[in-house]
Amino acid sequence: MSANIDQIIKKSQEACSLAGVKLTNKRKNVLTILLESTIPLSAYEIAEKYRFHFNEALPVMSVYRMLDFLIHERLVHKLETASQYMSCEHITCDHQHETPQFLICDQCGNVKEIGIKKHIMSELALSIQNTGFKLTHQQLELHGVCERCQKLV
Ligand SMILES: [Zn+2]
Ligand SMILES: [Zn+2]
Ligand SMILES: [Zn+2]
Repeated sequence: MSANIDQIIKKSQEACSLAGVKLTNKRKNVLTILLESTIPLSAYEIAEKYRFHFNEALPVMSVYRMLDFLIHERLVHKLETASQYMSCEHITCDHQHETPQFLICDQCGNVKEIGIKKHIMSELALSIQNTGFKLTHQQLELHGVCERCQKLV
């Protein structure tokens, strides 16, 4: 797991330098915390883990700034309905990042990120448009029970 995280961090650094921005130590640390977590975290939880892991207090305001950066670079996603953050599951992938859809398990809190094909998204956008509603945000968050939790029943 740890080697895998190193790999993802390395890939993230490459992506940042390609974009002409810098993955500073603090940004990298915030990303590492999210990569190590099996569930999405709030900014407060990230600040708490930061102090514990890196022996350094990072104000929540700074955490938000780091998160804004990471979201902008598509390394992190925000779950809008819960105001929680998670690392992108496709950082080391070569394919294009599709519109993310999140499958949220209500039992263990695990979140799976899957991409929605463009044509499905445009069909959805079209049918929403037909109702007169103006769509500003395309992220989908769906709740349910994950495969592992279903087996536990
Ligand atoms: Zn993603
Ligand atoms: Zn992928
Ligand atoms: Zn579950």
